[in-house]
Amino acid sequence: MSKSFYITTPIYYVNASPHIGHAYTTIVADVLARYHRMIGDKTFFVTGTDEHGDKIAEAAQKAGITPKEYTDKISAQFRELCPELFISNDYFIRTTDANHIQTVRYILQKVYDSGDIYFGSYGGYYCFGCERFLTEKEIVDNKCPEHGREPKYIEEKNYFFKMSKYQEWLIDHIKKNHDFIRPERYKNEALAFLRDPLEDLCISRPKTRLEWGITLPFDENYVTYVWFDALINYVTALDYPDGKNFKKFWPVAEHLIAKDILKPHGIYWPTMLKAAGIEPYQHLNVHGYWNSGQSKMSKSLGNIVRPLDLKDKYGLDAFRYFLLRDMVFGLDSNFSEEAFVGRLNSDLANDLGNLVSRTIAMAIKYCDGKVPEISKKEKSPALYEAALKTVAEVDSSFKDMSLHKALISIWEFINITNKYIVENEPWTLVKDPANKGKLMAIMYNLLLALRSIAILISPFMPQTAEKILRQIGATDETKNLNLAGIKKHDSLKVGSPLTRGDSLFPRIVQEKETQTKEKKSSMIDLKPEIDYEEFAKVDLRVAKILTAEAVPKSNKLLKLKVDIGEERTIVAGIGKDYSPEELIGRQILVVANLKPVKLMGVESYGMLLATDTDKGLTVLKFDREAKTGGKVR
Ligand SMILES: [Zn+2]
Repeated sequence: MSKSFYITTPIYYVNASPHIGHAYTTIVADVLARYHRMIGDKTFFVTGTDEHGDKIAEAAQKAGITPKEYTDKISAQFRELCPELFISNDYFIRTTDANHIQTVRYILQKVYDSGDIYFGSYGGYYCFGCERFLTEKEIVDNKCPEHGREPKYIEEKNYFFKMSKYQEWLIDHIKKNHDFIRPERYKNEALAFLRDPLEDLCISRPKTRLEWGITLPFDENYVTYVWFDALINYVTALDYPDGKNFKKFWPVAEHLIAKDILKPHGIYWPTMLKAAGIEPYQHLNVHGYWNSGQSKMSKSLGNIVRPLDLKDKYGLDAFRYFLLRDMVFGLDSNFSEEAFVGRLNSDLANDLGNLVSRTIAMAIKYCDGKVPEISKKEKSPALYEAALKTVAEVDSSFKDMSLHKALISIWEFINITNKYIVENEPWTLVKDPANKGKLMAIMYNLLLALRSIAILISPFMPQTAEKILRQIGATDETKNLNLAGIKKHDSLKVGSPLTRGDSLFPRIVQEKETQTKEKKSSMIDLKPEIDYEEFAKVDLRVAKILTAEAVPKSNKLLKLKVDIGEERTIVAGIGKDYSPEELIGRQILVVANLKPVKLMGVESYGMLLATDTDKGLTVLKFDREAKTGGKVR
């Protein structure tokens, strides 16, 4: 029997346009939804907008339009963000939708009939920013600390939900279900809040003060408090009470929120559910904040940009990867363009991008452009075991919401695959026809590893996964991703055509590097005899080759991107002796302070060291792994 999975984002309050926090929550929900679909779970994923309340009415008034016109406009911005971020939601809910209004009124009536809603008088300090009465404890120097304005004393008759009645039940429930609220720090925060007596929740606003809301079913003079309305969206989306989806998905409901709305989701919502006779949700997953103040954004790349603009500048999958890789779920994280570009260059361009491009290039060259046929015994048990181990690690990381750990495991597998290339040297094997069988096996195993990698990264980077699968001829799989497919050892169709694609993640060269490069050039004229000071003027460095490609129209020049502690382009005349793919990842020796020269139209910032042999040039290398960028004496 297949399992079910229900994931929600908060419905976003339409008093402001989408920002990185919204993007992050929605992307995390999307990754979870895609993963669960891939393991065969029936999955339902909901996002949407929260549209009632004081703040909306106020913002609409300022804009000179009706609240409905205002919410239509902002809600559309959130809706449009979904395809822009490649979000696979099944449903987009608005709290102004007719079915939602009906559900809210149904639940209110049910709770009212059971005696948990009463009419009472209340006087208190009301903050229009928070849209609620503040407790004495919350008021600091006569002000709401969050909004910096003085709350207004209001005394009025209102409807109250007997939240206090469920305090002991809730404490007990949180304690018994250790991951009801997770990570643990937020469970502890909720329990800390519950140490003080829980007050009843004012769930109405008189229409004399606010009309933009859902009218109470039992009193036409009042509208529903915005949180009591909004939280109910999670069951509206499943056609509560009688819908098939409600029966199938509610028992496995998982909410995803940022830490600022822990209280309504961790305290109000479970008690509301209990009072309405609905089982509590299964998990509340709480994440931290992205600190992305403009002052923290990099200025080295010229313009200061908003984080959301970076997806346009560097590509959506790189953006999704960065958000998921750099935030430990539950903790705060800093967003900087430099860190983003760093991840893009190292993890995506170097590790993943190079692996795919060199494997495809070699397979096209050596295997006639098709997936080769090999015998069972030639399949690499080591790579296969590593793939299975990765699947298991990724699965356990998803179970405890450690998405960054899932990516770390996948990258370990990517690096194992890169090592497999270096250890087996297909470019050497191809020189002797006797090695044909072994070479085909190695290429098959590499293509199979690319397929496993594509499937594993697909929840995080769906478009990249699809590109990889197309390149290895597994086009059918792009529409039918299945994690269990990795366990099928012989799942590549022999004879499928391989195609070379554009570079998945072109490297980003930061401008400041180019500038420093130009400044520190000095020509050394080598003489037969020199003293040490003169020798010391030559800046020799350990360089790691990041990318290699032929210079167009030249039969011996290769353009190399090397890392010598910073990135350089070097043009080298070794194209007759080395293929680009055998150079990637190798450490070589370069003269780093040679004056730049232009070779066949390409600027070269340094020279690699090589020597002649009977069979052509050989590039100088090291006996042991050296420190990239290290000085050579
Ligand atoms: Zn406030």
